[in-house]
Amino acid sequence: MNVVQSTSVTSASPKAELRGPSTVNLYGESPHIEITLDDFEVYALKRLKVLRKIEQLKTMRVTSELYKLKIDESIKENLSDATIDEVSHFILRLSYCQSEELRRWFLAQETYLFQHRLKGLSKDQLAKSVRKYAQIKPIPGNEKDRLEKQLTKLSLSPGEFAASNFYAVPFQQALDLVASRQCFLSKGYAYIPESKVMSILVSKFRTELSRELVLLSNANSFSSEDPEAERVYPLLKNLSNCMVNHDSEDHQGVSTGLTAATADGMAVHMPLCMRQLQDGLKADKKLKHWGRLQYGLFLKGAGMSMEDALLFFQRHFSIVTGEKFQKEYAYGIRHMYGKEGKRASYTPYNCSKIIMGNAPNAGDHHGCPYRHYDEQSLRSLLQRLKIGNEQDRRNILAHKSKGDFQLACQKHFEVAHPKALAHDGIMENVGNHPNAWFRASVQYRDRTAGATTVSPEKTGPMDK
Ligand code: SF4
Repeated sequence: MNVVQSTSVTSASPKAELRGPSTVNLYGESPHIEITLDDFEVYALKRLKVLRKIEQLKTMRVTSELYKLKIDESIKENLSDATIDEVSHFILRLSYCQSEELRRWFLAQETYLFQHRLKGLSKDQLAKSVRKYAQIKPIPGNEKDRLEKQLTKLSLSPGEFAASNFYAVPFQQALDLVASRQCFLSKGYAYIPESKVMSILVSKFRTELSRELVLLSNANSFSSEDPEAERVYPLLKNLSNCMVNHDSEDHQGVSTGLTAATADGMAVHMPLCMRQLQDGLKADKKLKHWGRLQYGLFLKGAGMSMEDALLFFQRHFSIVTGEKFQKEYAYGIRHMYGKEGKRASYTPYNCSKIIMGNAPNAGDHHGCPYRHYDEQSLRSLLQRLKIGNEQDRRNILAHKSKGDFQLACQKHFEVAHPKALAHDGIMENVGNHPNAWFRASVQYRDRTAGATTVSPEKTGPMDK
């Protein structure tokens, strides 16, 4: 891919033009295409919108129909053009190969997208798609008939056997199916029914993309002497920041009543990351740089005014003199609100940014406990805060151990707000943004007012 400076016409990849919407793209080769810097960014942002939508929907409790509908809408709006689809995939590979966290995020969302598209294909379209993977071959009807006895043993009823197409795949690509005896083996090939093809394709897609990302990250040295790299590198860097900076959650019209005076008492409505910062602030009577930034922006997003933020931090930074506070810390708080420096304003960090950001060192309180604490520390913390019962905590930790940090956080919300699922839409974005968690908790309190008493001494807003 060649990036040109001008805003002139780009030439589409011939391969992309040929590929109709009826097959999925396996992104085997990067396109040979000239593209303007403007389009480079626009294409990548379009794909990011789709990937972020996938990430967002995964943590929301939506029906599979709604899930499909929303992703289809997003794909139609952003990636219906085959060239944009292909080019944007390769741009984001370059951008998201740069760290393990970014690779993991990109791989997870791309695999979902691939799987989603596969599910939307008809039988013929699926057969056409797998032909691209030369080693997965549909077997002809006469071979199917010849192998009927062996193939019907794959737990297929006679009706299912008659209706299904079968494929032959090198057995190394179907090791799971071989291990669970869900295929018929002959001469180095595994014979599988169509219903299993999808899982093989998805796993192959995932493995290949994962390998490509690692190779790319090893080869990805941007020389400052290469003028093209110099133009593109800041864009690539910015694109990976886009993902983590995109959500500028604020209090979104929900009056949270957060002020310097109420903040301590309202900590019960904060997600674990922010409660740790609040507790750390109280214990240490100060917060280090990343903690001030993470917590300060969260408070701003939750509706605290700049004047109140100055008051709040000054009161808590009781080990520094008023003069030192004004000199060393007040500027940073005004800066967060866009009142100092060049940048207009800073947005609160979303979960992805916190999870992928700097891990806390000793004495730090920033980060995401679900991501950055080991299992034992997290278990003790949940216990100390009396979040749910033993089984609830096990359920939360099960998500953590699978690397589903945001789902663990969402589970925490459900446990602390037992009737939340009955309140339509209240949990929107919980698990994606700390400010959404806080807003939802305050809304829950307001909606259930009278039924539940919130006490600042209690450790969770609605702890059982
Ligand atoms: Fe905070 Fe998000 Fe981690 Fe929850 S998942 S603790 S809201 S960073």
